[in-house]
Amino acid sequence: MERILGIFKRRNSEPDCEEVQNLSSDFLDDDLDVRTRQQVDAHTAWCAPCSAFMNTLRATVGLLRSTPKQRAPSGFERRVRDQIEKERSA
Ligand SMILES: [Zn+2]
Repeated sequence: MERILGIFKRRNSEPDCEEVQNLSSDFLDDDLDVRTRQQVDAHTAWCAPCSAFMNTLRATVGLLRSTPKQRAPSGFERRVRDQIEKERSA
């Protein structure tokens, strides 16, 4: 019972970095429910890598949106993430 509660508790705790980064494009699209949005917001407030990821993504999305004919190429989120990973490990 203890273990089941533990899993339940963990599932309801704050999203981790991977989840936050997976949710980030929906976050920027304002496509999340309020609760998830608040969790992402709270996470990026203290998590530097996710905050950087979000800023980079926001800048990239903003750039793409200012040129309406262009769409985000598939996999571009991953490239942003890879870029940040690279900068972190440099
Ligand atoms: Zn994070």
